[in-house]
Amino acid sequence: MQSYRVVAVGDPIASAVRKTLRSPGYGHPAHTEVATGYGPCRQCLRTFVVGSDRRILFTYDPFYGTGKLPLPGPVFIHEHDCQRYPEDAGFPVDLLSHRLTLNAYGRGQRLVAQSYVSNGDAEPELQRLLQDHEVAYIHVRDTDAGCYDFRIERTSDEEGVNGSAQSNGGGSSHE
Ligand SMILES: [Zn+2]
Repeated sequence: MQSYRVVAVGDPIASAVRKTLRSPGYGHPAHTEVATGYGPCRQCLRTFVVGSDRRILFTYDPFYGTGKLPLPGPVFIHEHDCQRYPEDAGFPVDLLSHRLTLNAYGRGQRLVAQSYVSNGDAEPELQRLLQDHEVAYIHVRDTDAGCYDFRIERTSDEEGVNGSAQSNGGGSSHE
């Protein structure tokens, strides 16, 4: 089994959005509303309670810090502070029941493979993609809405590069 980490939107970005109500790097006004869809919140990766949770919509580039070609799109976070999803917690349970697209990218942001999963079969497909060493990281998107949810990276890559994996969430600062 290939171990991997789940990279949610980092605390610095989420905090900046809540404070400024602007999209970092774009300046578009962020929009606050009661949730009309399940989301998820891109920071804690929990689904929203439709009709009661409050959320902020903003523009986010999921390639910021990892790729040269931006691919900005709309994402949501909880209106108030929440706990970032732990990188070592495995696939977010709240998302397992949704139809998801796994976009596997190689170096240079090249799309190597694209898989559609649903009904909890994300893990075996994820393992299959991670076996391919052309795959550098995977973007998970909602198949129905098309929006970016989070990124997956092999943990062993990091250890191989410098022997000191950023285990304290240090990776979040350049998202
Ligand atoms: Zn949240």
